[in-house]
Amino acid sequence: MRRFLVAGNWKMNTNRASGAELAGALAVNAPASETGVEVLVCPPYPYLAGISDVVSKSAVQLGAQDVYFEASGAFTGEVSVEMLKDVGCSHVIIGHSERRHVMGETDEMINKKVKAAIAGGLTVVLCVGELLSEREAGKTESVLDTQMAGGLADVSEEDAKDVVIAYEPVWAIGTGVTASPEQAESAHEHLRKWVTSRYNAAFSDKIRILYGGSVKADNAEILMGQPNVDGALVGGASLKPELFIPIIEAARKLANS
Ligand code: PEP
Repeated sequence: MRRFLVAGNWKMNTNRASGAELAGALAVNAPASETGVEVLVCPPYPYLAGISDVVSKSAVQLGAQDVYFEASGAFTGEVSVEMLKDVGCSHVIIGHSERRHVMGETDEMINKKVKAAIAGGLTVVLCVGELLSEREAGKTESVLDTQMAGGLADVSEEDAKDVVIAYEPVWAIGTGVTASPEQAESAHEHLRKWVTSRYNAAFSDKIRILYGGSVKADNAEILMGQPNVDGALVGGASLKPELFIPIIEAARKLANS
């Protein structure tokens, strides 16, 4: 059975003190891993080391919001896989829609990052998702296929074993508009079929596919309760313990039902 993953993407929010306070509250409340729910927080780069100290003795895992694919050198402003591991990260988000659409990241660049992160032993949370205009033009599935094929180009089944996919329709991110459970399930089912055809059915059955896009306490259970939804990637509602912990609780309830 696939283990739920509830991940918080803090984006460019918090400061040293508020981030430590938030992580501390989660460390106290995060369920132990044997409950079938994993919890991940992804703070901004400058706070990773401090948050690592806060969560290191808890079940809360630490991830970064991005990474660069080169190992070291003259890449001003960039951060390597080894640096992330050095400060305690086990995960990294790659290909978030804000990286794709605000920073202009291409599937080719995302693929390089995915391969570098896997080679370095990080669990990759690979984000894919369509724009509203693409959905309205009936292109959702072809956009997902292109992003999956691009992001996972030359990634073998063995290498992909620690990859988590996050389906994040761009029109639902930070907008308060959530995909309906049916829309989410349909996209997740399509992604799982894509994994079956690219890899195989056994692998597809194991890979986790998170939903992201305005997940809140009041919609988390129905979204994560869909057969092909294995957790949530949460932005806004991950910034306050009183908003994020109920989402973890919803996953815990589903995992134990
Ligand atoms: C995200 O940042 O990945 C996200 C889904 O944001 P929000 O939950 O705020 O829509």
